[in-house]
Amino acid sequence: MTEPSSFLPVFNPGTVWLVGAGPGDPGLITLLAHHALQTADWVVHDSLVAPTILSMARPGAVIESVGKRGGQASPKQSDINARLIELAQLGHRVLRLKGGDPFVFGRGADEALALTEAGVLFRVVPGVTAGVGGLAYAGIPTTQRDLNSAVAFVTGHGQDGNLPTGVDWESLARGAPVLVFYMALRQLDQVVALLLKVRSPDEPVAIVSKAATPQQTVLESTLGQVLAAVAEHHPVPPAMLVVGPVVTLRKTLNWWNPETG
Ligand code: SAH
Repeated sequence: MTEPSSFLPVFNPGTVWLVGAGPGDPGLITLLAHHALQTADWVVHDSLVAPTILSMARPGAVIESVGKRGGQASPKQSDINARLIELAQLGHRVLRLKGGDPFVFGRGADEALALTEAGVLFRVVPGVTAGVGGLAYAGIPTTQRDLNSAVAFVTGHGQDGNLPTGVDWESLARGAPVLVFYMALRQLDQVVALLLKVRSPDEPVAIVSKAATPQQTVLESTLGQVLAAVAEHHPVPPAMLVVGPVVTLRKTLNWWNPETG
């Protein structure tokens, strides 16, 4: 049997590991993420990371939250970058733990750029992104060969919290049979209005909330009905909107029961 210790890299003092924690289920972290938790001196995490995952940190590690708490505004990205640089320059092994995958709508790339500029060495540990793994826990595959050969991942928030600029919405709506929206709830009415210019109101959609956690809920609807369904059922963030034919597979593939795990 191959022991993980034979291939796991050394976590050097004065470096930062940018690590994905997956969408929720602690069992979805990678061996590299687990190794980083067991080795890090300082864990800097955001609010999407489950407490069970943080509890895997080695005793003595400092756990620091830089996520939103109690309705307060989240710290500025520039302050988080500066904090990571400061901790690394003090000689700590710094684990930057982020929900999902650090390079998917998670500002991991911004942090990596800031570390590079400051001359701090880093490693990236990819994670299971919510738009793939979270949907899988809702029984929704992102692709199925009879239904779609392409999928687009889109954020519902640009830099300022509004719909992102720089997206050609009409081409996007025409271009990919399946669309997966992260940060979907706040601008949902605008997103739906843009999609309805091109796509059918009968198109199946789902809103997957708190995927891969015991609080997971899945609201199945259609593009034409989804705003009314949301007003009635109030799905909570974090949530994704998935649009397209793969949603129909859920009635057959809904394998996971959030209550029993
Ligand atoms: N880096 C993360 C995404 C960060 S952006 C990743 O790869 O998954 C935050 C958005 O991710 C949320 O607004 C939501 O749309 C989505 N998200 C993250 N975790 C989720 C979960 N458990 N259930 C549903 N959506 C989730």
